[in-house]
Amino acid sequence: MRKLLIAGNWKMNQGPEDTAQFFEALATSKPADISRIDAAVCPPFISLPEAKNGNAKLPDIAIGAQNVSSEENGAFTGEVSATMLKELNCDYAITGHSERREYFGETDAQICKKNLKALEHGLTPITCVGEVLDQRKSERHFKVVEEQLTGVMKGFSKEQAEKTVVAYEPVWAIGTGETATPDQAQEMHKFIREILGKMFGDQTAEKIRILYGGSMKPGNAAELIDQPDVDGGLIGGASLKSDSYSELLKIAQEKSG
Ligand code: PEP
Repeated sequence: MRKLLIAGNWKMNQGPEDTAQFFEALATSKPADISRIDAAVCPPFISLPEAKNGNAKLPDIAIGAQNVSSEENGAFTGEVSATMLKELNCDYAITGHSERREYFGETDAQICKKNLKALEHGLTPITCVGEVLDQRKSERHFKVVEEQLTGVMKGFSKEQAEKTVVAYEPVWAIGTGETATPDQAQEMHKFIREILGKMFGDQTAEKIRILYGGSMKPGNAAELIDQPDVDGGLIGGASLKSDSYSELLKIAQEKSG
């Protein structure tokens, strides 16, 4: 049985002060029992020390980064290594978010290297795939997602694949208020699991969590995570406020009952 994961992607929002405030507020708004799910927030790098303090007080809220270097250490100005993230108690690293692909030119091959480096250091990659609107309109979305997925998990062993979380994020649904319907999400998640099955065998594919991302919020989370192949959410806007993030945790915990 796959455990649902509710992961917040804060993007370039919430510096250290806001992060400290978020955790303070979360201490009162968070459901007391979220033992049936996994929960994480991924603040900007600069806020990770505050998130580490928050995580010390709320250990059921794991922390993650929004990126990780594919390199071990050394002359890579502006990069942050997996070892450094582990030092700040990170359990997760988001890789290949569509904004990294679009604005920073990240390729599947680079994202794959990041995933392998993260795994080498015990970080769980939350690796993102998803089509843009034109690709969906021209019915190329399955092909695009298959190419991305095979690229970002190229050469993985079954063990590495099992430890990876895939996030399906249709780009047209990110930050737009437009959400994939539960049927659209399920259709793609099922397809992703089939591809994972071809790559790593069905048994391994059954263990890999596939999150949905794209304007997920308390109002639509229940029907999305009700889908058999949707194993939680990667959530941007609705994860920034402790109230709505707590609401998402509550919904996921109830759905896991
Ligand atoms: C995201 O950035 O990963 C995301 C899903 O954003 P939003 O929930 O705001 O659409």
